[in-house]
Amino acid sequence: MTNSPDYEVIVIGAGVGGIYQIKLLKDLGVKATVLELAGGLGGTWYWNRYPGARFDSESYTYGYSFSRELLDEWHWKERFSGQPENLRYLEYVADKFDLRRFMQFHQRVTAARWDEDGRIWRLTVQDVRNDAARQMTCRFVVMTLGLLSQPTLPRLPGMKSFKGPSFHTYYWPKEGVELAGKKVAVIGTGATAIQVIGEIADKVGELTVFQRRPNWSCPLNNSPISEREMADIRARYDEIFAKCARSPGGFEHEPDRRGFWEVSREERLALWDKLYDSPGFGIWLANFREIFVDEAANAEFSEYIAGRIRQRVKDPRIAEKLIPKDHGFGVQRVPMETNYFEAFNRDNVRLVDLQETPLERVTKKGLKTTEREYEFDIIVYATGFDAITGAFDHIDIRGTNGQTLREKWKDSCSSFLGMMIHGFPNLLMPAGPQSGSASTNYPRGIETGVNWCTRFLQHVWQRGDTRFEATAEAEARWTAHVVSMYSMMLMRKAKGWFTGYNSNVPGHEEGKVRYFVYNGGAPKYVERITSVAEKGYEGVVLEGARQTAAAE
Ligand code: NAP
Repeated sequence: MTNSPDYEVIVIGAGVGGIYQIKLLKDLGVKATVLELAGGLGGTWYWNRYPGARFDSESYTYGYSFSRELLDEWHWKERFSGQPENLRYLEYVADKFDLRRFMQFHQRVTAARWDEDGRIWRLTVQDVRNDAARQMTCRFVVMTLGLLSQPTLPRLPGMKSFKGPSFHTYYWPKEGVELAGKKVAVIGTGATAIQVIGEIADKVGELTVFQRRPNWSCPLNNSPISEREMADIRARYDEIFAKCARSPGGFEHEPDRRGFWEVSREERLALWDKLYDSPGFGIWLANFREIFVDEAANAEFSEYIAGRIRQRVKDPRIAEKLIPKDHGFGVQRVPMETNYFEAFNRDNVRLVDLQETPLERVTKKGLKTTEREYEFDIIVYATGFDAITGAFDHIDIRGTNGQTLREKWKDSCSSFLGMMIHGFPNLLMPAGPQSGSASTNYPRGIETGVNWCTRFLQHVWQRGDTRFEATAEAEARWTAHVVSMYSMMLMRKAKGWFTGYNSNVPGHEEGKVRYFVYNGGAPKYVERITSVAEKGYEGVVLEGARQTAAAE
């Protein structure tokens, strides 16, 4: 038995969650480190360097809220800030609070084994620069792995044979890609592709979009933030964050509380016209609540958006292809766009409908559908992520009795509060599956999760405990609560990452809902986790240090 692991806490992942987690641990004087696979901090904003990558949360609601000084210092230059600026922000935070010295980059955690005798986690860590592997131990492990950090590629024959550059958007080359005059293929029409397509359509020679299923998408309506506006935002930060805390999505946007059917059609149209021209997710989240749960309300609103698409796309045949027919508006995560629909009015942009002519293979020269071969200089895979549990599945995580988390979560996932897992003691996930983060403005959810986990650890340390574990009953209750909320939502029928669908991951194809997301909204989530803490962490078994034989 060892009583002195290398670290009290190891945090895995230096994204928005890991950065805040290490800040709090540093403040507490805890011996802790962050292990990060990338060559730098920033998580999502380190990797996703594709053209058009930007927030669709209002920038000033995405930034951390924990430091008044930081809020006063930082000037968000755009309402929806782009990737380079977002990464600069996170680097600024790390430098300001002197966090880099607690971070180790290029470190891939390949395995995490719970050692019951020692009550420690044993991690296998590979330095990706030289493949050297080492063992590290810690009392507590905090996994801030990211919800969308395992990119997935299609399973097409010939993918290695293409002669030109081809890459997933997540790995868009750091040094940039020369696009002028190039024939570019984009596969996918999710939130990422919609940002890329709108941004590059007028910069490439030819753009061919390979679409399997269209998504509902609405204008982002981005704009710069002047010094004066920023001063106003700074003065209102308390109010802004209070509003985010009140709203189900953790945004400034709050649902319209009038009943969909209680107002006239004219009043509904007036609201929708206003929201369509307003910035950000208002069109989704400041809408009538019925669109999420009532088929008829959802159909009426979807038809309104379809009308908007028809107005914007000149060729009616293309417009119809861009309008989703298999799901209603907002039951999948809504991508926000800038110039997306207008891109299809350009002579150099073409749409290939993969439902009519599916992709058969990648060739040396490009892509071959059942109809013909297309030649390209560059292929961009905007094909999404093994969402939510993917990053956990890529680590061989073994808990009590050697059971693997991969096996436990094979069919769906289960957790306590989205932050702990029965059978995996001393492991915390501030923004894990079934936590409040996935369905809300991420950083707002992440701050909630990291604060809760840190207070929990303080509680453990104050008591002198060395082991905690959520009970099977508490986990079953939480998971049943999460599942029950799906049954109310139209979303349960949708093929998107909210329900665990990914055609490229074996076993995640359509047909089986995975209960990944907490749908109760941020205020209810906070109420639940606060109540657990107030009841002395009801549902969690805490155990003190074992007596050694000599002491006994
Ligand atoms: P996604 O929403 O999962 O979209 C993937 C796209 O690729 C879909 O259109 C999918 O078609 C298509 N696809 C996948 N495999 C394919 C295949 N084998 N052949 C043809 N098409 C294929 O992924 P994403 O666009 O990367 O977005 C994921 C999430 O990241 C978003 O929902 C959002 O939460 C987040 N995101 C956020 C921002 C932001 O904050 N600004 C920006 C981008 C992304 P099917 O639908 O037919 O499977």
